Amino acid sequence: MKIMKFGGTSVGRPERMHQVKDLITRGDEPTIVVLSALSGTTNALVGIGEALASADKILAKERIDTLHAHYLVFYKELLKTEEARTKAEAIIKEHFEFLNILLKISFNEAINRDILAQGELLSTKLFYTLLEELNIPAVFLPALDFMSIDENSEPELGKISEKLKAILAEFPGERIFVTQGYICKNHRNEVDNLKRGGSDYTASLVAAAIQASACEIWTDIDGMHNNDPRIVEKTRPIAVMSFDEAAELAYFGAKILHPASIWPAQLYNVPVKLLNTMQPEAHGTLIKAEVDAIGVKAIAAKDGITAIKIKSSRMLLAYGFLRRVFEIFEKYKTPIDMITTSEVAVSVTIDDLSHLDQILAELDMLGSVEVDKNQAIVCIVGNQISETKGVIKAVMDSLEDIPVRMVSYGGSRHNVSLLVDANYKNEALQKLNTGVFSW
Ligand code: ADP
Ligand code: ASP
Ligand code: MG
Repeated sequence: MKIMKFGGTSVGRPERMHQVKDLITRGDEPTIVVLSALSGTTNALVGIGEALASADKILAKERIDTLHAHYLVFYKELLKTEEARTKAEAIIKEHFEFLNILLKISFNEAINRDILAQGELLSTKLFYTLLEELNIPAVFLPALDFMSIDENSEPELGKISEKLKAILAEFPGERIFVTQGYICKNHRNEVDNLKRGGSDYTASLVAAAIQASACEIWTDIDGMHNNDPRIVEKTRPIAVMSFDEAAELAYFGAKILHPASIWPAQLYNVPVKLLNTMQPEAHGTLIKAEVDAIGVKAIAAKDGITAIKIKSSRMLLAYGFLRRVFEIFEKYKTPIDMITTSEVAVSVTIDDLSHLDQILAELDMLGSVEVDKNQAIVCIVGNQISETKGVIKAVMDSLEDIPVRMVSYGGSRHNVSLLVDANYKNEALQKLNTGVFSW
């Protein structure tokens, strides 16, 4: 069995949904189809939540109506028969009635997560209606019946696997299953989600849960490119990369994949393929366990980073100092991305600022603390790059005009990370593109 996940742009227009239908009906391998919300919908739902949170009901109503109008045009282009259109009208009515009711009740975070779930619920139900209209046999699998996260918002892979396998066993002989990306239940049994871009994560978790033969991520570009195509001209797709390389790139800003979406597939060695819905014959990128090619593969960048420097005269020869520093981040469940040390100071970076004030207050007891906000991590990823001659020189030469705040090299064999002021992010990506890929 394989997984085919389609992102927002792949389902964002009626003719694209028809293309998705063609792609999922081509082969004969049983397939779980994971769909995102139509492009723009989750952003619109975030906007509705924000308007409600600030008690601006007029704005919330305006935003609900705009989104509603979009769906009223969409389904008429998607479906042809009266019967299918009547079903779609009922689906749209149900979900927009729900949103409109929220204008009358008091708002809270759990309701906000319910709002965010509407996009994937709508896209999958409309797509399923299209399959019904075309007499394509398929099973509708509500993700909320099997996708769950624990009290730390971590997916419960064991439970997901057990539940999903039991559900699938009820449908022997079926070939196509349709489910929602992104949405799940949390430990309070409320509707929750896997964070923005989370449909990729769903696909990989589902692939791991059933030990699928492949996890295909269908999107609007022909695979993982060697640099950010939104910022740099002349990027090219990478044919093959390892799980480790892809995980680093995803974590450090390559938007094509959700930051956590590689580990589940890697755990069960399920190959991940990045493919282009608009150009299905393109090779795309194959992500698997081992790769042969040595050297730099790609560059990515992540902004919104904060650097924290803790300086202590007592750090010299003080074993246990780093442990005390790390314990503070652990206490506030704040992951550290980069670390560099000197004899008297340690610098770390974080991107989750929810507990920054408490963290700083506690760090202050260990030494003097400096904070630099608005930084970006630029990450150079490849296979055995710490053993490949010339890489670090090419990186540094490319960035000679850019102040570099931190460097992390040799932590793994496939990564060099640098911290620069976020204002230099685009320039750093552009300069590295010419500097690193031409030597
Ligand atoms: P989807 O809606 O299908 O999940 P996303 O917008 O989340 O699609 O991801 C695809 C986009 O990721 C591409 O259109 C591209 O602009 C962006 N992107 C950023 N970095 C990379 C990269 N290194 N390779 C390919 N795409 C990238
Ligand atoms: N619809 C969600 C989002 O826009 C999840 C996804 O597309 O992967 O973030
Ligand atoms: Mg995405």
